[in-house]
Amino acid sequence: MSQEDTFKKIISHAKEYGFIFQSSEIYDGLSAVYDYGQLGAELKNNIKSYWWKSMVMLHENIVGIDSAIFMHPTVWKASGHVDAFNDPLIDNKDSKKRYRADVLIEDYIQKIEAKIDKEITKAQKRFGDSFDEKQFRETNPRVQANQKKIDDVLLRFKTAMENDDLAEVKKIIEDAEIACPVSGSRNWTDVRQFNLMFDTKLGSVNDDASTIYLRPETAQGIFVNYLNVQKSGRLNLPFGIAQIGKAFRNEIVARQFIFRMREFEQMEMQYFIQPGTEKKWFETWKEKRMKWHKALGNDESNLKFHDHDKLAHYANAATDIEFKFPFGFKELEGIHSRTDFDLGQHQKFSGKKIQYFDNERNESYVPYVLETSIGLDRMFLAVLSASYKEETIEKEDGKKDQRVVLAIPPALAPIQLAVLPLVKKDGLPDKAREIINTLKFDFNCHYEEKDSIGRRYRRQDAIGTPYAITVDHETLENNTVTIRDRDTMEQNRVKIEELPEILRSKVSLNSLLKKLEN
Ligand code: ATP
Repeated sequence: MSQEDTFKKIISHAKEYGFIFQSSEIYDGLSAVYDYGQLGAELKNNIKSYWWKSMVMLHENIVGIDSAIFMHPTVWKASGHVDAFNDPLIDNKDSKKRYRADVLIEDYIQKIEAKIDKEITKAQKRFGDSFDEKQFRETNPRVQANQKKIDDVLLRFKTAMENDDLAEVKKIIEDAEIACPVSGSRNWTDVRQFNLMFDTKLGSVNDDASTIYLRPETAQGIFVNYLNVQKSGRLNLPFGIAQIGKAFRNEIVARQFIFRMREFEQMEMQYFIQPGTEKKWFETWKEKRMKWHKALGNDESNLKFHDHDKLAHYANAATDIEFKFPFGFKELEGIHSRTDFDLGQHQKFSGKKIQYFDNERNESYVPYVLETSIGLDRMFLAVLSASYKEETIEKEDGKKDQRVVLAIPPALAPIQLAVLPLVKKDGLPDKAREIINTLKFDFNCHYEEKDSIGRRYRRQDAIGTPYAITVDHETLENNTVTIRDRDTMEQNRVKIEELPEILRSKVSLNSLLKKLEN
């Protein structure tokens, strides 16, 4: 199955089972805005808890806040977003479609990369075990020519962006003969800068002074509260402030499902540190964040760091944690050493002193900041795409069958336990409900009595429920049930009274959080 097909399947699976719906679908939808359905909301909440607890509960010196979406407009002047939060956009005159110039170039590069990959796969087959990919890349003329094309375009684009040379960006698109995917033409407008912030008016006075923005990142809510939190919490450096909340960006090209949305959620943590210690903390947080991802049992080859060559105006070191989405490796999380840029800017624009008195050093200074910033929706997509599996299985009668299973890490699964009476009679439903009534305070349980037991198992597999118990006639005799494991499909008979312990050891967030401590 091609990667594109897998991605399409994941999207329709997410809709079919109530994870994600297009926003306002009955009105034909709103582009790049999505709603989380009944199972999606559960999964999203579990990811949030995992992140929040790993930050706030596991670190004595990290606290969490919840700041407002609306902020004073000067915040965005100070942060640089009013002047510099732009994307280069270009329109195709025939299709009237708008694109991000950098994305067009990125897609062009990806196509060439795909050609290189094809050559490599072909050669791998031909040479078998003796194949040396590095040597092949360095010597094969076709691969070399394609790699040169990529390097040339990347260098030209990087230089053009650094020099703010939008005419050159257009020229790159023309020289690469990039055509509009819709009209197929190369009839492009000039490239312009486009600010990504949504604005709106505060109150009833419709003048410039009342223009406010929907925050494009949650981080600024943390910076402007730095002093409040530090003083009221009597916190000493280093300490962190974490926050989960909505952010809004008027993305020019919104595509790839929930990867790039116009309304999305971020989980950000700003770690305030002594100037000069930023390299150490950068390494520490890189390691900690990667550990957080790997604790989910993610295939290690799905994750990698990508260090930035071109740093944002506020950063002196930056890396992305990239995840192998169905459409390739893309940014999932950013880790940035932001120096004293943000607090310094707010100090300047507000005229208020934003400093820390360091008893050890006996001096005051503006703290440095190390940031970790992850998109909740992107994390959701990462979990969903890593867990989607189509399997051929053998039934008891020896026949083959297909199943779709979401192998979601048990601690994040929307439903943790399905309770299934074998038949709808003989008191089995009552017994099943009795079991749920004792477990529902600790676990998200789901009762289902419709259809054959086999079909019910399939449905639970498809929504990622890690355990299903079946209540049968033997249950009434000796208070035992069969418990079925989603991944192995093995069934064991256990005592009802053992269920809380079994579940706790396998599906609780604690088991996941403990992995972070080792
Ligand atoms: P990209 O280069 O993909 O646009 P970015 O570098 O602008 O992302 P940051 O400003 O570093 O992103 O934001 C931090 C995190 O927020 C990203 O790593 C990503 O997970 C998430 N994020 C950013 N923009 C979006 C979006 N439009 N939709 C969903 N998540 C987003």
